[in-house]
Amino acid sequence: MRASQSTERTSRTPSIVERIREHRGGTPFSVEFYPPRNEVEEQRLWRAVRTFEQMHPAFVSMTYGAGGSTRDRTVRIAGQLAQETTLLPVAHLTAVNHSLDELRGLVGSYADRGIVNLLALRGDPPGDPLGNWVKHPEGLEYAEELVRLIRELGDFHVGVASFPEGHYRAASLEEDTRFLLGTLRAGAEYSITQMFFEVDDYLRLRDRVVAADPVQGEKPIIPGIMPITSLRQVRKIVELSGSQIPAHIEERLARAAGNGPEEDKAEVRKVGMELATTMCERLIDEGAPCLHFCTLNFAKATREVLANLGMAAVPA
Ligand code: FAD
Repeated sequence: MRASQSTERTSRTPSIVERIREHRGGTPFSVEFYPPRNEVEEQRLWRAVRTFEQMHPAFVSMTYGAGGSTRDRTVRIAGQLAQETTLLPVAHLTAVNHSLDELRGLVGSYADRGIVNLLALRGDPPGDPLGNWVKHPEGLEYAEELVRLIRELGDFHVGVASFPEGHYRAASLEEDTRFLLGTLRAGAEYSITQMFFEVDDYLRLRDRVVAADPVQGEKPIIPGIMPITSLRQVRKIVELSGSQIPAHIEERLARAAGNGPEEDKAEVRKVGMELATTMCERLIDEGAPCLHFCTLNFAKATREVLANLGMAAVPA
């Protein structure tokens, strides 16, 4: 670790792969948070953090926003997670609107706060995630370059994103696999997938990576799961990621939502919990290395799915 005073602390911090592999007693789980936008959201985040702390996730990740104050909050809160909780944080960072110098500075800020686990992402165009990607004139084009940069800066443990349905900008699944392999060969130790709904898509991604490169295929592909609690919300999230809800799941959720002016939240939630539980059961059977839950900074839904699975010490 070259960046400043945190050497002693960070040298004892485990990597995500170590944390997953040393886990005993079933499949580990992990959770994703996003940087809160205001004081009320921040209080909610900390309530979720304290609940999850009692459930011993393998790690927690903190996403990186499109700009300004949410970016500062990612750095600050990831630091607080490292220093003020028992959790192992992974801080996301993206190449969006950052020069190389800024990216180096950002990695240094994480190191200063005792964070050695980073998720390297290209990110999406701010404002319109599906719009044209424009690289910063002094920045980076692809996540693979960010992986290399972080590795050059010190003893960081780097993860990347993977896409069970293929990234929406990739021309084919084969091309998508080739680019994922590029990030793994550049030194990424694992990947976390975009949230998905069909376990078969995850299994095929895993098969493609193993078939294309058995060595890289040893690296964990951690499935991203979102326990659905609102149809409107999941539609929006999926749309912004350039993905789609499979028709049979959309139909089930729409039936539960009903035809009223407002969706029937309780019914949607019931179906959402069932879907997430069934997916997780199959992922566990198929040997997924960890279950990574997108929490939207709420603990309740994830806790319920974990309780259904009989996993973790679940506080009341
Ligand atoms: P890349 O690997 O750089 O891929 C971007 C596009 O370029 C893809 O279409 C890929 O196929 C193509 N490509 C890659 N390499 C090459 C190459 N050598 N030549 C030609 N084409 C290439 N976004 C945020 O803003 N903040 C976050 O915190 C965040 N967290 C995420 C966490 C997870 C688990 C996931 C799955 C996504 C996350 N995202 C986040 C969204 C992510 O930034 C977008 O999905 C983005 O479009 C792709 O990022 P990437 O890192 O996979 O990029």
